[in-house]
Amino acid sequence: MAKVDYEIPETHEFPIIPSIMEGAMAHSSPFVAAEEFQSDMGFPSPEEKGQLIEGWKEKFLELMEDKLSKYRSLQVFMDICVKCGACTDKCHYFIGTADPKNMPVARQDLLRKVYRRYFTFAGKYFPKLVGAIDLTEEVIRDMYSYFHQCSECRRCAVFCPFGIDTAEVTMAARDMLAMIGMGQKYSNQIIPKVHKIGNNLGLPEPALIDTLEGLEEEVEEDIEIKVRFPLDEKGAEILLVTPSADFFAEPHIDGLIGYAKVFHATGVTWTMSSKASEAANFGLFIGNYEQMRQISLRIRDAAKELGVRRIIFGECGHAWRVAYNHLNTLAGPWDFLDQNYPIPQHILEFTKDALDRNLLNIDKSENDHMTLTFHDSCNIARASRIGDTVGSQFTTPRQVIKAVCNNFHDMAAETIHDATFCCGGGGGLLTDDLMELRLKGAQPRMESLKNVVADHGVTHMAAIGAICKSQFTKVLPYYGMTMDQIVSVHQLVSNAIILEGQGEETSDSDDADEAA
Ligand code: SF4
Ligand code: SF4
Repeated sequence: MAKVDYEIPETHEFPIIPSIMEGAMAHSSPFVAAEEFQSDMGFPSPEEKGQLIEGWKEKFLELMEDKLSKYRSLQVFMDICVKCGACTDKCHYFIGTADPKNMPVARQDLLRKVYRRYFTFAGKYFPKLVGAIDLTEEVIRDMYSYFHQCSECRRCAVFCPFGIDTAEVTMAARDMLAMIGMGQKYSNQIIPKVHKIGNNLGLPEPALIDTLEGLEEEVEEDIEIKVRFPLDEKGAEILLVTPSADFFAEPHIDGLIGYAKVFHATGVTWTMSSKASEAANFGLFIGNYEQMRQISLRIRDAAKELGVRRIIFGECGHAWRVAYNHLNTLAGPWDFLDQNYPIPQHILEFTKDALDRNLLNIDKSENDHMTLTFHDSCNIARASRIGDTVGSQFTTPRQVIKAVCNNFHDMAAETIHDATFCCGGGGGLLTDDLMELRLKGAQPRMESLKNVVADHGVTHMAAIGAICKSQFTKVLPYYGMTMDQIVSVHQLVSNAIILEGQGEETSDSDDADEAA
């Protein structure tokens, strides 16, 4: 755990809304993408590093006009806020940093004030009366800072009586900023790797093959059963599209082992793809629909080339948000897939169905050393379902956990389901240059976790978001917990599942030992 020169927020038994501290996070900005990363994305770069492109102001306003006419929701969000204040204390970044510009309404206002100035009658002629401001370089830099202090989690939208979605405002702002030379380095560095290599990590095919072979050996050593991790196998029934963190990071990789065991136990044929070896879609984070489309099209190409009949997504929050909501419009029609199954399907739906049909042999006691709680990933909780009923995104993961674990306790009601708190690292903010924001933004989730640890003896938190898992492994130690307290849901499935033939040799030899 690296030492930091700022204070980690305290956690309390009951949430405390902080007194505001003007400018507390004004210094927080992610690295701006250098020319190479802007040009890799096809985005313009300024002549001098750190400057804006020539004619930036006209360009920004032109883009804004275009977005306002294309996306009616954005226009409505700019117009209808009544400043009721219901959202002000709902953002984890405000709660953790006390910076008033991290209140969702204030974040929206960074764009709204410019909107008023250039796109409303009152703002054009009486700007001061309606809080309209000129678009200056200072305003742009403020936007860059605070629109990168929003994880697009939509918690504020749940509490806004008008449903104003700050995530959408953030996405629009980030896209416009990138187009005037202020793209974010972290996202712009990652997206081209997906196009060139197939995944966010830049893990080439030979390395992927090596990793998967290593996993097969590891699992065989562990349970003495050969569980396959197939790659690019034509004619397989299912294409698994999973976040690349599942190939190497802890606890993600234990989740991947869990998916493989479930597929093995149910007898389906499946494969991963080297072309689409990434479920993540950072096009969402930068608010660029064309990037979202191109990233999604890799999955379509891979599915067609491999001749699969079904597509299943692994544990990744924002990937599922994009897939659930947009895969059809971005990369459909999917008429070449089997229409008897959801397109796409979440791995938890598959596992729950297998559990319901008694296809899995489960020994829940294998997880008895843990008492679990569950972190609802915001992208899944507030932007999708996992199943076909209202609220299935909350019930399905819990049903699976309870089917494989004896000990489970939810965190406080006001911090789960659609009121869940973001892990603090979502929305393209999982970068070391935003570590202070990530640590402070994690405060509300850490608080509810610590309370359920103290009150109910919870030892571990399960999650189904790849970013959530990475963020928690990093922040848990700063809040007095350990990084291994975060687990994948399919890690729990993996622990509890007993595959056919598993343990037989061991018990035979045990019998022989006893007889001898
Ligand atoms: S979308 Fe989430 S991170 Fe962004 S302002 Fe709303 S609550 Fe905060
Ligand atoms: S809750 Fe909605 S209407 Fe009220 S201040 Fe926030 S964004 Fe505006």
